[in-house]
Amino acid sequence: MANHLDISGDFPLLARTVNDAPLTYLDNAATTQKPHAVIDAIRHYYEHYNANVHRAAHRLADEATAAMEAARTKVKDLLGAADSREIIFTRGTTESINLVAASLTERLKPGDEVLITEMEHHSNIVPWQMLCQRSGARLVAARVTVHGEIDLDDFHAKLSQRTKLVALAHVSNALGTLNPVEALIQAAHDRGALALIDGAQAVQHLDVDVRRLDCDFYAFSAHKTFGPTGIGALYGKAALLEEMPPYQGGGEMIEHVTIDTTTYNQLPYKFEAGTPNIAGAVGFGTAMDYLRQLPRPELRRREQALLHLALSRLKQIPGVRIIGDPQERSSIISFLIDGGHAHDFGTLLDQQGVAVRTGHHCAMPLMERLGVSGTIRASFALYNSEADVGRLIAGVEKAMEFV
Ligand code: PMP
Repeated sequence: MANHLDISGDFPLLARTVNDAPLTYLDNAATTQKPHAVIDAIRHYYEHYNANVHRAAHRLADEATAAMEAARTKVKDLLGAADSREIIFTRGTTESINLVAASLTERLKPGDEVLITEMEHHSNIVPWQMLCQRSGARLVAARVTVHGEIDLDDFHAKLSQRTKLVALAHVSNALGTLNPVEALIQAAHDRGALALIDGAQAVQHLDVDVRRLDCDFYAFSAHKTFGPTGIGALYGKAALLEEMPPYQGGGEMIEHVTIDTTTYNQLPYKFEAGTPNIAGAVGFGTAMDYLRQLPRPELRRREQALLHLALSRLKQIPGVRIIGDPQERSSIISFLIDGGHAHDFGTLLDQQGVAVRTGHHCAMPLMERLGVSGTIRASFALYNSEADVGRLIAGVEKAMEFV
């Protein structure tokens, strides 16, 4: 692997040790580490131009506002959206989905349906359950096959004139399955349904182009994309967002307020009540810059090579069972080891400095469908190396000596 593709030096945290071993960070689906550039940008903001945005008549506020709006443009550009008004800053994927679910309440009626899949993260299930409780609509889930892919026959059978919205993950956080979202969005539109894509696991790995996908909404989190926690984005088509009522009331989302009534601000501010996460937006924008300047096609090929190396080496270990076998997979491997509980193996790996995640990965319906209570999940990012794969494999082999 060529050296210019080793970007791990950009990430200060990766240099630390854990339990006297070099850190092997394979929990990138939970959150990615942050490059110097992002950390420095946040610090620079607080040291030099911290102020509240949009409202004040002073220099610092102008600078903070400009930085926040520049960040919005960077997110827009990364997603290939047409207009910055289509980018709403939220707390992350979860809030983006909740925003859409809350705002669509009036559109749904008893007899309508929301179609999701069995592989969704809880944050792409529960907000729709709550929407259905409020509106009288019904939540329907397309089945997942034993391979960990959406059962397309079942999806198409469940997509009907009753379906008002389809919501599905671009990439499964539990199995890594890369879903054929473009075709499914098209199918939703053919039935007159809206389509929301949960891109939490996609943006760090794939080139997302919301106009090519033609999705109505796309949600993702900065912290899984080398940016800070506490901020993310919702992309929505402007015409739809214009029609949708606000999500929360408060400062900034208004145009005019009397005691009896309020007129709302224009997009995107209509959906951004209250003081936003300004430092987060600054870091988010810098993370977008960071991603864009990387040789992403080459890094992605390298990341895929690592994934397949790890998969094949894990498969060679007797007693290791890979959970899910999707044809298209992105950077995530779920597995179990005979003779012990996933949590215990997680602890044994941690003792060797290998950070993985264990449990249901906020995808309990998927775990139930696959007949497991949880898995061990190793998830890769652009900065991981062959050495990380080697330490994962050595760690698993050593952990197995304890059971
Ligand atoms: N959807 C998917 C597919 C995820 O992986 C996650 C995070 N694990 C979320 C939604 C929720 O993201 P956040 O917690 O950043 O809002």
